[in-house]
Formats: sequence, structure tokens, C-alpha cells
Amino acid sequence: MAKILIVEDEEKLARFIELELIHEGYTVEKTGNGLSAYEAVSSAVVSEEPFDLVLLDIMLPGINGMEVLRRLKILEKDQAHTIPPVIMLTARDQVMDKVAGLDAGAVDYMTKPFAIEELLARIRVALKLHGHEKEDAQDPVSGRSGELLTWKGLTLDKNKHRVTYGGTDIPLSNREFQMLLTLLENRDIVLSRDVLLSKVCGYDYIGETNIIDVYVRYLRTKIDEAFGVKMIQTVRGVGYVIYSDSD
Ligand code: CA
Repeated sequence: MAKILIVEDEEKLARFIELELIHEGYTVEKTGNGLSAYEAVSSAVVSEEPFDLVLLDIMLPGINGMEVLRRLKILEKDQAHTIPPVIMLTARDQVMDKVAGLDAGAVDYMTKPFAIEELLARIRVALKLHGHEKEDAQDPVSGRSGELLTWKGLTLDKNKHRVTYGGTDIPLSNREFQMLLTLLENRDIVLSRDVLLSKVCGYDYIGETNIIDVYVRYLRTKIDEAFGVKMIQTVRGVGYVIYSDSD
């Protein structure tokens, strides 16, 4: 499984990303300092276990993320080492940095705050493009097949961002899609509204938690009512769940 370095000085955010990545099965290291990030990546490229991907914040103590990236590119050019793909993490007001980051050789960028599912999706894409394709074997227990998740007649394709039931397309908004994806990936586990909120709306979403109830209602209209099933179950006082074997 891929090894990822998180370079982020906001400890809470770094820890949140770390836990999510570990949950996904990645090996994770993190640092909150630009200089130590450069040292970690540059010493790893010549070792047996280089990083497969770097998540790089821009505003950092030591040297900033742009400078880290610039130095890594120099290392690549002068020493002919292959450096791992870099996804920049930028704040909303750093549009210029975002453009500069891509110019400087980052493969992608995320604007904070972001929904964790989107970051995970972009990590998968970056790893795939750089030779770390995930196993595509079907797991009969979870119903997972690589990027496809299934439940009864429903199929969710993570890559194509598409949901069908018995072959019929179900158009979903981005947040409805994230919500369904989160529930399907955690089937048989009751998820609280807070957990769903951080997955669907971003880790620092500020607003009504009943927005989750609204998305559940939309999904039930589009799936349960349309196809005569009962997919998303309400667990009173707790949250929501999709059971593998529910009718
Ligand atoms: Ca920062």
C-alpha cells in the first residue's frame, strides 16, 4: 500500500487527514515544518522506501510549501531522482499560489476547507497516474470491487462519479453522491450526523447539522421511492446506516 507524507502545520487538520488515510490503509508520516518535509522526502527518494505521494501545505514554518516543491524539483533535475507526486493544500485566499503550485510541478491542489472524500479521490487518481493502481479484486463480503460499490441493484462508480439502479442512471448532486458513498463504504456501521457532516461538507463546515437529514430525504426520493427499496435506515438518536442485507 502507498506511503504518504502529510506536510501540514495545523495539527488538528493534519491529524484528521492522518486518521482518514490510515483508515484507507495507507502508510502515513506527517510533519508540520517545511524544512523537515524536504529532508524527509529527499532522504526517502534515495532509500528503499520512498514516499508515493506528498500532501503539501503552503504556509509552513521553516520554508514554505512552494519552496519545498522548488527544491524537490531541483533534486529531481540535478540528481535524476524521481520525486513523488505532490498535491498542494491551499487556503481560499491563495489563488496565485495555487496556479504557481501547478506551474512548479504539483500534480493537483485542494482548496481548504475540503471534503475528505474529495481529497481521498484525488489521492487515488494521483497514485493511479503514478503507478500505484489499487487492487481491483472483488471482495464478496463488502460488495466492493475496486472503484465500484454495489447494494442490491444499485451500483456506485467512484471513478465515473455515477450511480445506477438496475442500469438506470440516478443523477445526484456532489453532496448526495458523497453521502451515499460514505454510507456504502461504511455499510453496517451506524454513522452519526457529525461524522457524515465532516465527510460530506468538509471537516470545518459550520452550519446546520440537519442538512444531513435533508440529503437523506433527497436520496430516499431518488432511490427508495423510485425503485421500491429501503436503503438508508434511520437509527433514532444516533444517525444513519445502510445494512448489507436489509430489504
Ligand atoms: Ca499552514
